[in-house]
Order: sequence, then C-alpha cells, then structure tokens
Amino acid sequence: MRDDCIFCKIAAGEIPSQTIYEDDSYRVILDLGPAAKGHALILPKEHYADIFEIPEEKAGEVFRLAKNMAVKMKAALKCDGFNIVQNNGKVAGQTVFHFHMHLIPRYTDDGQDINWKPGEPTQEELKETADIIRGEI
Ligand code: AMP
Ligand code: ZN
Repeated sequence: MRDDCIFCKIAAGEIPSQTIYEDDSYRVILDLGPAAKGHALILPKEHYADIFEIPEEKAGEVFRLAKNMAVKMKAALKCDGFNIVQNNGKVAGQTVFHFHMHLIPRYTDDGQDINWKPGEPTQEELKETADIIRGEI
C-alpha cells in the first residue's frame, strides 16, 4: 500500500467508492468519469504500477475476474457490447499509476469512440516489426 496512491486508498476502503465487487485481493469500483453507464475499474489491493510490474499470475487472475464481471454486468445493465481497456504509461493514456482494468459496457448509439487510427504498413514493414518482437521471445 502506497500512501501517495489514490487507488491503494480506494482499494483498501480508506476512500469511499461505489464498490460492485470485493474479495481479499480485488475491489471493483465504478469509474467517477464513466465512458458509459456502468464503467467500472478492477483494482488489485496490492500496488503494482502497471502491466510490467504486476506478476503474471495476478494478471491472469485479473482477466478471469474481468470475464466474470463482464457476464454479470451485461446481464444487469443489458448493454449491447463491452470494451476491456488497460492503459500502461502516460503515452498510452494511463493517468493513475496503480494497475487497473477498465470494464466498459457499451450501448448502441452511446456516442463513445474507443478506437485508434489504423496505420497502413507494407508487408515488409510488418515482417520487420514481427522479427524485432520475435527476437525477444
Ligand atoms: P487511466 O487513464 O487508465 O489511468 O484511468 C484512470 C481512470 O480512473 C479514469 O477513467 C478516471 O475517471 C478514474 N478515476 C480517477 N480517480 C478516480 C476515483 N477517485 N474514483 C473512481 N474513478 C477514478
Ligand atoms: Zn496503489
């Protein structure tokens, strides 16, 4: 637990939140600035800054929880789709540096645009990139 981390405090229950699920290791809360109704955040109770710090096993647990929450939230909210988003680093849009996963119910005509501008690489460029990554695996 970090004294200077707001998500540590929320996860520990020291700062109130709209909690929709809690167990020994995780708290799932409603986002204060939702992209759509029901937008929630999975917070591990232990502090990890991002996907690079969180242990592999924990990362797997988070996704298992995301799956279960998505099923329950879809039934409760009757949403039409669902985005799962997880930002790492300022350049990637992370603003709170305590690992969290966004669960975003989507509704037809909700007016949100969670997307990117597609690039147009050549096959050669794709191969070059794949080679760089494969070299590390
Ligand atoms: P990210 O940009 O991926 O780091 O996401 C941070 C998210 O946390 C944003 O969607 C914020 O709206 C949300 N947020 C920030 N502070 C709080 C808070 N105190 N309670 C609930 N959600 C928060
Ligand atoms: Zn923290």
